[in-house]
Amino acid sequence: MRTLATAEMMYYAEYDCYAEGDALFEYLGREYYCPACNYLYLVEANLDHYRIRCPMPTHPTHGSIVDGIISWQ
Ligand SMILES: [Zn+2]
Repeated sequence: MRTLATAEMMYYAEYDCYAEGDALFEYLGREYYCPACNYLYLVEANLDHYRIRCPMPTHPTHGSIVDGIISWQ
């Protein structure tokens, strides 16, 4: 997940906006899956914000990164 957050920063530097999931995975050349549940990470993005999270809706969640802020310690 940190890899995806780093990629968002690189993508932003290059294109001046953040990337939605498909665009980000294409940018990285591969897809990324949650190591805890093996679901493809959800990446939501617009011009100035992004959110990367595991798609599992239950608690505890498997973490998220919103605009660089990591949900776990
Ligand atoms: Zn998960």
